Formats: sequence, C-alpha cells, structure tokens
Amino acid sequence: MTTPDGTTAKAAKAGSQASSGDLLELVRSGRATTRGALQQVTGLSRATVGQRLDRLFRAGWLREGAAGPVDSPLGGRPSVRLEFDDSHGVVLAADLDTRHARAAVLSLTGELLAEHAGPLLVEEGPDAVLGELGRWFAELLEKAGHRAHEVCGIGLAVPGPVDSDTGRVVQPPIMPGWDGYDIRGRLTRAFTEHTGAGPVPVLVDNDANLMAYGEQRTAHPDCSAFVLVKVSTGIGAGVVVGGTIYRGIDGGAGDIGHIRVPEGADALCRCGSYGCLAAVASGGAVARRLAESGVAAASGSDVRDLLTSGHPGAAAFAREAGRHVGDVLATVVTLLNPGVLMIAGDLAGTAFLTGVRELLYQRALPRSTAHLDVVTSRLGERAALVGGGALVVEHLYAPERVEERLHAMGV
Ligand SMILES: [Zn+2]
Repeated sequence: MTTPDGTTAKAAKAGSQASSGDLLELVRSGRATTRGALQQVTGLSRATVGQRLDRLFRAGWLREGAAGPVDSPLGGRPSVRLEFDDSHGVVLAADLDTRHARAAVLSLTGELLAEHAGPLLVEEGPDAVLGELGRWFAELLEKAGHRAHEVCGIGLAVPGPVDSDTGRVVQPPIMPGWDGYDIRGRLTRAFTEHTGAGPVPVLVDNDANLMAYGEQRTAHPDCSAFVLVKVSTGIGAGVVVGGTIYRGIDGGAGDIGHIRVPEGADALCRCGSYGCLAAVASGGAVARRLAESGVAAASGSDVRDLLTSGHPGAAAFAREAGRHVGDVLATVVTLLNPGVLMIAGDLAGTAFLTGVRELLYQRALPRSTAHLDVVTSRLGERAALVGGGALVVEHLYAPERVEERLHAMGV
C-alpha cells in the first residue's frame, strides 16, 4: 500500500513520464505554477502539458488564478498562474483525547470551516465514540453549509500508537477496549449512517504525529527535521522529517512517554509499568501531585487552568516536570538533530519550557542544540485537526492516486 503522505518525496518526476498527478503536485507545492514553468521542470512539450492540465481542469481540481499574469520563465507572452481549486470538496477531521474530542470541517487547503469540541470519553469504547463522531460530522457539515457528498475523506487523531497500514491502534495504554479495533470501518459506517453519503477514505494516526504534521506545515514549512512533544494526559512525540511523518516500523516512533526515568521508580504508569516518564511528568502526574498537596486538580486540563491563572504550586510542579522531559529530550535531540522542538499540550507554557531548557541544554551536545529553536505550539488545540485534514489531502492528491481517481471519473 502507498503511504498516505509519500507525495513530497515523490514530488515531480522530470521527463516524459510526468503525469497529470505530477503536474498537480508541482502546482500545489508552489514549485511550478505556470504552463511555462511546468514545461521547464518536466521537460514536457507545451502541447503535452496542455493535455495533462486539461484533465485536471475537467475534474475541477485546477483553476486559473485571479492573481493576474506573471512573467514566464521561457519568455514570450505572460502566462496565467495556475492554482489548486479547493472548492470541489472538503475534508473532515477529528482529534480524540481521553475525556474530550474536537472535530472540524476543513477546506482542501486547510482552512477551518466549522468546528465543535465537547466531552467524549475514550473509555466508553470505539463503537460508541466513533458513532458519536459520525453525528458530530453531520452537524458540522450543516453548520459549514456543505453537503456530505462533498466530503473527500476523514482524518482521525487518537491518543495511542497506530499501525498506519490498517488504521488500528496497537496496545494503547490509555484507550481501553480499542486494541486492534477496526476504526476505519466503524467511522466510515458512522459517517454514512448519519449523513446518507457514500463511504470515503478514513486515515487514522497518532495525535502527536498529526499535531507535528499540522504545525510543521503551517508554521515551519522549511524545517526538514521537526519534533513536537505533546504533554497532556500522556506524553508523546511526533517527528516530521523531510515533510513526511516518521512513524518507524510499527507506528511506535515518538512514544517517549514510557521511557523509564530514575526519578519515577515508585510511580505507577497507566501502561502498568513503574517508572515511566509519563508517570512523573505528564499533565496527569502533575495533577496528582497538586491533589496530594491539597490543590483541587484531577487532570491535565485542570493543571492547564491553574497555570493560566498563575498558580505558583502548579508552576513549580510544571517546571519540575519540564526538567524530567528535558532530560529525555536531550537524547531525542542528540539522535535527530532537529531544527525545531515544539512543546504542545496542557502543560506547554513558560514554567514547563523553562524546565525543559534547563536540562536539555545541560545534557545535549552543543552541536545538536546550536541551531535548535525550542518553541510552543502555534495552532494550539487545532493542530491535530489541521494535520489530520492535511494528511487526507496529501493522500488523495498524491500523483499516483490522482491518476487512479481521474481514470475512475472518466477524465
Ligand atoms: Zn508507561
């Protein structure tokens, strides 16, 4: 099976094999946006470029821009700028956390058209949770003024490791009852039941992966090695290398929350082991410590509220948690040498970041941190929605899939 986001690596083939899909990829990425530039990059003749673009125009996927003529690199008369026509469809995305969820309708270029957030308990199991998401999607489409048959696909972020070939979660520590469940099948059914539309592709990925993908594409598109660490109920990291999510062999890459740390020897983790990083430094762990000291806090989001209100005890515990995470991140940064390390989730704030920096710069080699930016999230709670939407779009408009789809449309 083709990886959902293998498009960037495949970018444009030069020479006579460049297909309509390759041309669309060049336009979408901004690498060639006029007929002349497409001829130059691909080596195709003017007539062949014209024929291949014609199929994209007929499909409604490409349009001539309103921006006006630009200079052609081949000289001669000015050529019109071509652009991806995002008005022919929309995508749906949802981000499941343990106790609440967020869902949205997005345009094909990543604009949020309608959004809903509300309580949804992962522990109620996949059948109930995904059924409810189907209902949310139907309501959101109505709110956005779009019809269900315009939906091209659904991207879902879940708080556990995902096998991206099957879209199933693999032994997720904080998703009881979800192990190996057919998420794609159930969400497809929920979508068709609640909207009356036909089935659409469903892509499932880990939440930290999709947050990293959304943030990297939005705020750091030129960063070729990007790491995002989500610290909320659990701790997880997403890695985007060369514009592509790095998942590892089994979708387990970035699952840093269950690395053992010496300080955690007595701390029981939700995965059943003792001494995990998440057991001492997650939002849940900080909430527990606050509760033990007499402060009302039961979850990562409670800690976030306390941090926002400037609670000194919460800040002290968050900073200490940041130091534990920073110690582990020193290894991550040494291994990957990223340009950007983004801290996201409930604890992401000044106190936590201070703690991360203290240990990170002390423990990592200067060469691996010399050009490293340690930053906080740009998209906030919407990062996984934006990433999920983008994953679906990259999957659907990958050059080889464009060919299949054009063929199926008879174009
Ligand atoms: Zn654990």
